[in-house]
Amino acid sequence: MNWITNYVRPRINSIFSRREVPENLWVKCDACGTMLFHRELSGNHYVCTNCGHHFGITPRQRFDRLFDGGLYTEVEVPIPEPDPLQFRDQKRYPDRMKAAQKEKGEAEAMLVVRGEMGRTPIIAAAQDFSFMAGSMGMYVGNAIIAAAEEAVKLHRPLILFSAAGGARMQEGILSLMQMPRTTVAVQMLREAGLPYIVVLTHPTTGGVTASYAMLGDVHIAEPGALICFAGPRVIEQTIREKLPEGFQRAEYLLDHGMLDRVTSRTEMRDELITITRMLLGLPPAIKGDLPPPQPEAEPEAVREPEKARPPERAEEPAAAETPTE
Ligand SMILES: [Zn+2]
Repeated sequence: MNWITNYVRPRINSIFSRREVPENLWVKCDACGTMLFHRELSGNHYVCTNCGHHFGITPRQRFDRLFDGGLYTEVEVPIPEPDPLQFRDQKRYPDRMKAAQKEKGEAEAMLVVRGEMGRTPIIAAAQDFSFMAGSMGMYVGNAIIAAAEEAVKLHRPLILFSAAGGARMQEGILSLMQMPRTTVAVQMLREAGLPYIVVLTHPTTGGVTASYAMLGDVHIAEPGALICFAGPRVIEQTIREKLPEGFQRAEYLLDHGMLDRVTSRTEMRDELITITRMLLGLPPAIKGDLPPPQPEAEPEAVREPEKARPPERAEEPAAAETPTE
């Protein structure tokens, strides 16, 4: 029996022990209930292959598919004062924050990066709804300002993916102050003549829709995304009336002139490349998956044939460009 324990069992184990844990292999669609194979789902941009339902994704999952060869570099965001109000509900705010950081492995609810999309250099920022409901606090404000400053510095367009439950109540009025702050950041892009494109994902609500998420040059939403200031339940309770079908969903807002496009995530990258290049006055790009840009091609200071660049920008330390994940 030795050959069974020594040979057959290890072979069987090696066949079945994959890197994925069993519960991650199959995912049930929230919308239609279909059981989807995880790899099939991730290969389809986390869009249900049966009904087209868009699953919530993290900024990294999004950026892996957005950038050429999945290569991008994080832009540093200044860390704000932690817990300025000594806020406490059932838990202390710093404890809540630490738990979220540990669970998600991210510093905060927004990730800012630079990279190339269809060989078009851009700055991108994405909000993480899975991190404390993507709530807009001082960090998110800092992230948007950092993204806008980076865009102006490198003369690149900014693409922002919004997803938020609103302002972060643990930071009280300081979170509300991010509305004017981010509005000023968007104005910086406008003054620099740079495109600012907002992709609204499910759900984008509260103070975020009252500021940077609705100030884009172009507004694209993912199908079925809830986009609103006050949610449908609050409105129904206030006006005591039944709201129409699909109220505040992306398609409804498109019909009522609040959005420019509703685009499936599977086509989002190509569409963003087309729109960005059109706004920048560049020729149409190569579509489809591209390998990462050559390391030599990445440094910003070399990329743009700008003679009139101020001296301090010519000395841009572009060598510090290191790929993340
Ligand atoms: Zn489905």
